[in-house]
Amino acid sequence: MSLIKQIDHIAIAVNDIQEASTFFVDVLGLEVSAPQDVPEQKTRVAFVQIGEVRIEFVQPMSDDSPVAKFIAKRGQGIHHVAYETGDIVGALATMKAKDVPLIDKEPRVGAHDAKIAFVHPKGVSGVLTELCEPKKS
Ligand code: ZN
Repeated sequence: MSLIKQIDHIAIAVNDIQEASTFFVDVLGLEVSAPQDVPEQKTRVAFVQIGEVRIEFVQPMSDDSPVAKFIAKRGQGIHHVAYETGDIVGALATMKAKDVPLIDKEPRVGAHDAKIAFVHPKGVSGVLTELCEPKKS
């Protein structure tokens, strides 16, 4: 059995959500959600639903946001890939047991009240990876 159900979202680090939305709205005809602040990360995020998967725009709200540092170093671009799990605590326990390097050893609360945890890119071929267990509605 896989720990993962599906890709939940792919996050793109952007300087400006409004500007980044233009392609998705004006060209692709998709809708972008209202931006939501994530004060803990000093970011603002917005989502584009595409079938079962979402694109997440992540915009830094201050120069000391981790995403500001990411953009300063690597430019705008894919920031992380998020995988949905039904059991984030179990997934983290499995990863700890297999020596996967974790940024978050315990789940924390992310956008939309989902439980999230980040896996270090060095364990995932250089890609920052998020585990996410959506809030049960
Ligand atoms: Zn994310």
